[in-house]
Amino acid sequence: MLIVQKYGGTSVANVERIKAVAERVVKTAKEGHKVAVVVSAMAGETDKLINLAHQVSSAPREREMDLMLSSGERVTCALTAIAIEELGHKAMAFTGRQMGIITDDVHTRAKIEKIAGERAKKALDEGYIIVVAGFQGITESGSDVTTLGRGGSDLSAVAIASALNADLCEIYTDVDGVYTTDPNIVPEARKLSKISYEEMLELASLGAKVLQTRSVEFAMKYEVPVVVRSSFNDNPGTLVTKEDKDMEKVVVSGVAYDKNQAKITVMGVPDKPGIAAKLFKGIADAGIVVDMIVQNVSSDGKAADISFTVPRTDTKKTLKLTEGIAKELGAKGVDMKEDIAKISIVGVGMRTHSGVASQMFETLAKHGVNIMMISTSEIKVSCIIDAKYAELAVRVLHDMFGLAEKKG
Ligand code: ADP
Ligand code: ASP
Ligand code: MG
Repeated sequence: MLIVQKYGGTSVANVERIKAVAERVVKTAKEGHKVAVVVSAMAGETDKLINLAHQVSSAPREREMDLMLSSGERVTCALTAIAIEELGHKAMAFTGRQMGIITDDVHTRAKIEKIAGERAKKALDEGYIIVVAGFQGITESGSDVTTLGRGGSDLSAVAIASALNADLCEIYTDVDGVYTTDPNIVPEARKLSKISYEEMLELASLGAKVLQTRSVEFAMKYEVPVVVRSSFNDNPGTLVTKEDKDMEKVVVSGVAYDKNQAKITVMGVPDKPGIAAKLFKGIADAGIVVDMIVQNVSSDGKAADISFTVPRTDTKKTLKLTEGIAKELGAKGVDMKEDIAKISIVGVGMRTHSGVASQMFETLAKHGVNIMMISTSEIKVSCIIDAKYAELAVRVLHDMFGLAEKKG
């Protein structure tokens, strides 16, 4: 088999951990498999580098940010290859450029366009374990380094698995797999033996950072079999795979939370055609991704309040832009709230079961949690609440939907 193994930040946090990774990799190779390893930067390293840049400038240039950020993964991929060699196995480290990972030119959140990987394939055929720096690529012309967005090594691993036609993509992290909710918040959370791509995609995009959203999207599109497991033990992990009949029986499979959003409200805009279009076009043109939108029209039907959420990193930019547009539209004012959290329940079983949303609202109400916004899709319900109730809400919903007990 050809196996891709990705090790996240905590799994390569120090020299001891890197040696442990090397041992696991060599063990896999000795079992007769070809192994391509993808590594993240040491835990905390990417944050440290971002922090440095912000000490120098409040708006550092993204091209330079990418150049700097890619260095974290370069260090760990070289070190891991050296550690593997030390154990007596041939290993070769590759940067994104050397691996031929071609992306578009959107710095700090580039999309992978193709992976050439000829040299790496040759090395694999010659019996090398290859170790690739995650999270990075280069632009088509080859002149600029790009990074793939936070948590992007997951995407590197899945894309490399697809390009190499690997039999399996293992994502090694600091928890035993994908749980019904973040096990660091709810100790009763239960590990799922398998989860559908679709549910995993919702959970990831709703805040469960165990897998980066785009890596799940990619895995789903190209049907890459992904297993999430721990680099700290040999417990079986969670298989992310195509939906099957069993999965539908479970109404709610997981609870996710996201504290990285902000809510902006434009108050008293005239209630006439074209207003929302104008507001959201301006925001979209600035490359800001709007998540939830709620509009309330006053009882006299003359004015409306429009609330929406954006990633908290974009709050300042959005607020400035919105204030400008609001003035043009003749709105009464703009309000902003950052201490919010989005709490979501996810499950493919929701397609066939009714009353799930109302159960969620009742549970939150029973615990005195006010709901500011609601959005739903076929397989999820999300509520915006006050950030201070986030952990409580996750716990009571996890409990209410019986997630600790169910068989997964
Ligand atoms: P890595 O550095 O290995 O990429 P991350 O920190 O990105 O690891 O992701 C692992 C973390 O994801 C866990 O430590 C856990 O706190 C968090 N997490 C959030 N939701 C879930 C979930 N449903 N199942 C498992 N882990 C989750
Ligand atoms: N080092 C990068 C980050 O911290 C990428 C990753 O860990 O996947 O976001
Ligand atoms: Mg991660």
